[in-house]
Amino acid sequence: MAEAGSFAEKVKQQADIVRVIGEYIRLKKTGQNFTGLCPFHQEKTPSFAVHPVRQIYHCFGCGAGGDVFKFVQEVDKCTFPEAVRTVAEKCGIPIPRPRERSPEERRENQQRTALVEMHREAATFFARQLHEGHEGKVAAGYLGDRGLDRAAITRFGLGFAPSSGDALLRHLKSKYPEKLLEVSGLLSRNEGGRFYDRFRRRIMFPIANEAGKIIAFGGRAMGDDQPKYLNSPETPIYSKSNVLYHLDRAKEAIRKEDFAILVEGYMDAIAVARAGFANVVASCGTSLADAQIKLLGRFTRRVVVNYDPDTAGQVATERSLTLLLEKEFDVRVLALPGGADPDKFLKEQGADAYRKLLAQAPPYLDYLIGRARQMDRSTAAGKVAALNFLMPYVQRLPNRLLRSEWATRIASELRVDEPVLREALRRAAAERRSEVKPKAELLAPVVKPAERQLIRMLIEAEGFREKLAGEIISNALHRGLETERILELLISKVSEQPDPAALAAALEERDRRLLFEVLFETSFEATWEAAESCLSVLRGRRVEEELTELQKQIETKVAPAELNRLLTRRLELQRMLSRR
Ligand SMILES: [Zn+2]
Repeated sequence: MAEAGSFAEKVKQQADIVRVIGEYIRLKKTGQNFTGLCPFHQEKTPSFAVHPVRQIYHCFGCGAGGDVFKFVQEVDKCTFPEAVRTVAEKCGIPIPRPRERSPEERRENQQRTALVEMHREAATFFARQLHEGHEGKVAAGYLGDRGLDRAAITRFGLGFAPSSGDALLRHLKSKYPEKLLEVSGLLSRNEGGRFYDRFRRRIMFPIANEAGKIIAFGGRAMGDDQPKYLNSPETPIYSKSNVLYHLDRAKEAIRKEDFAILVEGYMDAIAVARAGFANVVASCGTSLADAQIKLLGRFTRRVVVNYDPDTAGQVATERSLTLLLEKEFDVRVLALPGGADPDKFLKEQGADAYRKLLAQAPPYLDYLIGRARQMDRSTAAGKVAALNFLMPYVQRLPNRLLRSEWATRIASELRVDEPVLREALRRAAAERRSEVKPKAELLAPVVKPAERQLIRMLIEAEGFREKLAGEIISNALHRGLETERILELLISKVSEQPDPAALAAALEERDRRLLFEVLFETSFEATWEAAESCLSVLRGRRVEEELTELQKQIETKVAPAELNRLLTRRLELQRMLSRR
């Protein structure tokens, strides 16, 4: 969100959303707005609108909407600061130099710069070791045996950490202060407090951040040394959960192809990339972290997961896959025949065979149904077990329509009575309601025109916004309405200049959509008479509600005196209604 007084706020005030969006899609003036084909969903007739006055966009087809920064973030799949820069550049607004940092920040910055430099140097050092001494030749031979030729070694910056235990230390210690060596993650200390090399007798894989800077290493044991894989620890420049191996080289291809191949380890990523699939990244572990998913989500929402979900890390794998589903990724599973890993498969079957399987990779739920089908379903208990196996995944689909489709498919595949299945699904969903976010269009709210008009007037009616807000709040006329949260927000902000994008940020997605839809409706003249007539609709609704309640009480037998009171009140209410 653009904070008051910030550079983002300044850019937002100066930027013209029509001009910025116009650089991405063709916009046509339609009445007070501009319309075009939505860049966020496939369509043939325009349902995407830009409001030049309110500086917002909204798609009536898919519901996408927001301010100029949101648009750039979504379309370029970038972060908020990046979007601010992009908009500033497009509108010719000068970008300020980074503010002066505090001495502490400056020290931390210097430390990070020095650590990155140290890692670059270490990578060069490790690479050189492949050509030095008997040990280096053995290591180079080992890589050769695994099909990694010179070109591949250079391309991926592979190297070797010698077994001596102080080779890297001797190389670095004259150039860097002890404090920096200490936090680098490249060295460890023994009990006597002396440094030694963390990586010994290992093939070294440099791990780069998104910008391509080496920030850590993964080391694979040459022989039977344990652990087989040893990684850099967390350091000031490296956090395992924030990095995807090979993303720096894959990101362009991922954007272009609009999907990523997700593999487990370095060797897999290297094998897949060498086979001509540049859009591959490795999680370096079966469990994906939230931050990794977020990182990937900046480039695509479609992932083909090429782990073997049947192997040892199955629980962790399924957790990762489920996490991807929850974040609304389109997840497919490429399970290679015989449980082969990508490296092995590509060596034996080649790139064409891989390409073919990649194209056929089934959606994750199809894959799961396939597994459920293999379970014994000849008995009722077996069916229940298969169902229980599938349910948790279906439940986690954030999209209600998709959940419903899957319920139908599962019912037919497992030959379960569909209503029974749906009931189970509904109950399960209700229990974790807070986590499920149904899409707004599936819960099309019933909103009376009066509510829509009141929303507009609370934003636009300069003359009586506050009076109107007071009228609604003092009689709690908004309680129980579909638009209750929107009205409440508008009323609470009625003394401020309304900013739709800021208001939207405080709303849930479906309310935000409704608000934007209303804002795109044709303007009308806001008069207090019009407001009064809207208010009277809400008052009438209140009376009707009370009548319904009253009717219920009258029908259940009550004591004569009480009944009399109820009937009198009913008459009053009926008179109120007829006067309207
Ligand atoms: Zn759309």
